Amino acid sequence: MSRTPDEENILQVLHGWAAALTAARMAPSRRWQAAVELTAVRDALASLWPKTVVVDPPQERWFDPLPGFRISGYPFTPGHEAWDCNAQAGQPQIGAWWGALKPGTVRFAGRDRRPGLAQHPEWDRGLYVLVDYRNGEVGGSCHFSEVLVETGDEVAGGQALGLIGATGAAQGPHVHQWVEREGVRFDWLAESGLTPTA
Ligand SMILES: [Zn+2]
Repeated sequence: MSRTPDEENILQVLHGWAAALTAARMAPSRRWQAAVELTAVRDALASLWPKTVVVDPPQERWFDPLPGFRISGYPFTPGHEAWDCNAQAGQPQIGAWWGALKPGTVRFAGRDRRPGLAQHPEWDRGLYVLVDYRNGEVGGSCHFSEVLVETGDEVAGGQALGLIGATGAAQGPHVHQWVEREGVRFDWLAESGLTPTA
């Protein structure tokens, strides 16, 4: 399939960026933002050339799901084995924000209807999403105003899972986020040697 001049120009620009990124050896804190932007570029490319473009996501351990977000609930403690990210309501939350933008399968997406919730409304996850990542870890994100995926969906790294909200037991717009390994939640931030930043 031959390319139009516009497509050739875009590809040339992309090849230039790829070379510059490889050469730059960016500081980790800058890579987060770069990863966000690259994800947007990848999505735009996928919509232009759905069958022909494959852009591998950056192989980074940490991926900022919410540019400009603040970690508001941390450290990881018994009773709150998670961290909270304050964010603007309505902003999309990008999935797979740890583990090199891993793709996965949505184990659950929807309203929290666990048995016993009426007795423990403080545990209400609201609209939430669980994703099974390919390495066996499971990621959970709660309190969305809207979920953008369905149970059973295959999700790409960097795909938005939901819109930031305050459904369930939330006092304001934020994401309550956790990661499990073999059914046990662990402090992924600490394990990865990462310090949350504002
Ligand atoms: Zn929380």
